[in-house]
Amino acid sequence: MSVLIVGGGIGGLTTAVALHQVGITAHVYERAPELREVGAGFTIWSNAMKGLREIGLEKQALARGAELKRFHTLSPKGNVIDTEEMESIYRTADATSICIHRADLQQILADALPSEQIQTGKECVGVEQQAESVTLSFSDGTRAEGEIVIGADGINSAVRASLFGTETLRYAGYYCYRAIAKTNELPADEAIFGMAKGVQLGFFPFGRESQTYWFVCPNAPIVRGTNESRFDHKTFLSSIANPLPSHLGHIIRNTPTEDLIIGNVFDRPPRSTWGLGRVTLLGDAIHPTTPNLGQGACMAIEDGIVLADSIRRADNHITALRQYEQKRKRRTAMITRQSWRIGKIYQYENPLLVHLRTLTFRLPIAGWIGRKTQQRLLSSTLPKL
Ligand SMILES: Cc1cc2nc3c(=O)[nH]c(=O)nc-3n(C[C@H](O)[C@H](O)[C@H](O)COP(=O)(O)OP(=O)(O)OC[C@H]3O[C@@H](n4cnc5c(N)ncnc54)[C@H](O)[C@@H]3O)c2cc1C
Repeated sequence: MSVLIVGGGIGGLTTAVALHQVGITAHVYERAPELREVGAGFTIWSNAMKGLREIGLEKQALARGAELKRFHTLSPKGNVIDTEEMESIYRTADATSICIHRADLQQILADALPSEQIQTGKECVGVEQQAESVTLSFSDGTRAEGEIVIGADGINSAVRASLFGTETLRYAGYYCYRAIAKTNELPADEAIFGMAKGVQLGFFPFGRESQTYWFVCPNAPIVRGTNESRFDHKTFLSSIANPLPSHLGHIIRNTPTEDLIIGNVFDRPPRSTWGLGRVTLLGDAIHPTTPNLGQGACMAIEDGIVLADSIRRADNHITALRQYEQKRKRRTAMITRQSWRIGKIYQYENPLLVHLRTLTFRLPIAGWIGRKTQQRLLSSTLPKL
């Protein structure tokens, strides 16, 4: 059986490793010239750690990332209004959660595959289905033929466009600064999340000594480029840093502007058809979500495990793809919708709503609802590979 995967991000690589684990060879075609250090930190929650466990990589991820045992929430004035101890949630979920550099997780996944299964510098520009096979065309003029194709090529997926045409992305109304600061004044296992007027922000240890991953998401019309004249990133970020406790302000102020990763936040409303014939989609290619629950990559990992399991069980490859899609639609749609709604609350502009939100977060009931929600998200089960 020949499986072709377009995209060597977290979703594509997880799927290839999961298939490898069940004895099926998949070839990954990645557009970038090499799998290099891109991105910043991200959270891999218990639900996805269990996915990594299924492919034998949970321990490696734990060793490279930082376990997040405690979350503090800050008010607009920089005071702690809630602290969540995560231990009991992780116990119920049967796995811990970490923050890790995206490149470190990508490397762990790539190292688990025979190197000849990943080809870089291969930009997919076309997908053609025949009765018994499917063919990919690449921008360098080469082609590859297989029995099924998995489009794991991210939010602007070419494979998705080949199935459904161009569908516009939905802008969330905020963009995001992400960066790695070369300083760490946070305890090794504590993360901080804050909300101010029209802005959410966070600080995370992520397993690299003396470094902190942080993000700031402000409301704004869509950003076309980081050099747009309406933006003075340094002045704006100083205004965000000023009310924060001094060690957090210091992390933002001491990050050079050239180290900032700046991107608009988009998602797509859930779609009922995920694939056609011999082609399916996975991860951001089909269900990109806003980052408010930190579950985008986690969903891509879950997808990969479920898809590998469906492929190995079904006699017919096409049936396997449709079964995988059925199994994943509901949960990923729930995450996309919930993340969108929570984002609207985190990004409140109206001073009255901001004030009410701060009061609400101080209430024990808010902590209880947050814990229940997390428990539900994190306690999902995945097939055994
Ligand atoms: C600000 C922000 C913070 C986030 N924080 C978190 C978090 O804390 N936790 C979490 O779980 N998720 C988080 N996410 C979401 C997460 O980054 C994505 O959901 C995840 O990366 C999706 O993985 P993927 O493999 O589906 O797609 P991608 O990571 O986008 O990978 C797609 C790959 O396909 C390649 N590619 C693209 N087009 C082609 C082509 N035509 N041919 C060949 N290759 C191609 C790309 O180069 C890339 O390597 C965050 C997202 C944002 C924007």
